[in-house]
Amino acid sequence: MGATKAAKVGNSNNGRSHNDGDYTKYKIVTIGSHSALQILYGAKQEGFQTLCICEKGREEPYKSYKVADKIIMVDKFGDTVKLQKQLLGENAILIPHGTFFEAFGIESIEKLKVPYFGNKGVLKWEADRMLQREWLKRAGLTLPKIYEKPEDIDGPVIVKFYGARGGKGFFLARSAEEFYRKIKGRKAKEEVRAYIIQEYIIGAPIYIHYFYSPITNELEVMSFDKRYESNVDSIGRIAAKDQLDLGLETSYNITGNVPVVVRESLLPEIFRMGEAVVKASRTLNGDGKGIYGPFSLETVITPELKFFVFEISARIVAGTNLYMNGSPYTDIRYGEPMSTGRRIAREIKAAIAQKKLSKILN
Ligand code: ATP
Repeated sequence: MGATKAAKVGNSNNGRSHNDGDYTKYKIVTIGSHSALQILYGAKQEGFQTLCICEKGREEPYKSYKVADKIIMVDKFGDTVKLQKQLLGENAILIPHGTFFEAFGIESIEKLKVPYFGNKGVLKWEADRMLQREWLKRAGLTLPKIYEKPEDIDGPVIVKFYGARGGKGFFLARSAEEFYRKIKGRKAKEEVRAYIIQEYIIGAPIYIHYFYSPITNELEVMSFDKRYESNVDSIGRIAAKDQLDLGLETSYNITGNVPVVVRESLLPEIFRMGEAVVKASRTLNGDGKGIYGPFSLETVITPELKFFVFEISARIVAGTNLYMNGSPYTDIRYGEPMSTGRRIAREIKAAIAQKKLSKILN
């Protein structure tokens, strides 16, 4: 975002607000799902006013937990684009999260006029699996191999469908024959979408939660989680014989998150990977602007303690909800409860105080 548009952030909005360093004139806004409780609670901890856009029938948590000073109801989240004038009048700063992306899609996010926390320029690099791979490769990270065609399969693979929410329909195979047999089963049940055949890494899945601040130019490791997925995380409760008899198919539908602290000697590599991702992101669009704010690397750590990165989320991830009152790591750094949601609010507050909002809003 250029300086002109940035200036608007602090100076327009019906003349109600100039960026005079007074953060109380701004409202932190998000849509009610995913990590909204954390984002709004964190904003309130930092003294901001908050606004939550709720879909009819899904508003109860936001009322009950009292994280929103104001709630606006919509029939569906996508209708938020029609509220832009009102949001500009409220001096809103939108905080995106996973549901936000699902509801709007990248194209309408790119067109949003309401100030938005994050670099919209990296969104397309995250959304396309091949572009994402290019980004992570530029960062020098180790990625699972991609097989061009089923005949190339020479070890365990995971077949991932595009646009599959929560890993729906993903399956494992070890040979071309198994691949064709399983995909045939999928075709019988549903339309088979585009997919990739990715090397399946056997190890411990760990999701790393980072925050990069363009105000302090520092990368912070906030916390870690692992996922609790249905049915894959409960299959181990059923004997192998019964699994076979029942003809079970694995699915990876996310139902929750489980906290993790990592072996401390892994931390230097974790910092190195995050820093490499931030650095590589500055090369993506040729404008030198990279990722900032929260992001996550989804990794599998092998028994040799090697990290394989299979995905990046260029935004707050729901695993951070575990740490609404801080993680062991943020506790050391801040000595006060510091969630990722609160960290976002603190970044915005610092940018307002230092008149650097243009650095963090789009
Ligand atoms: P999201 O986009 O919400 O992160 P998704 O639907 O793209 O989810 P993934 O996160 O890619 O799904 O993967 C679903 C599950 O499969 C997770 O449990 C993950 O740990 C596991 N997984 C994904 N890729 C690999 C891989 N290459 N090796 C081993 N496990 C993997």
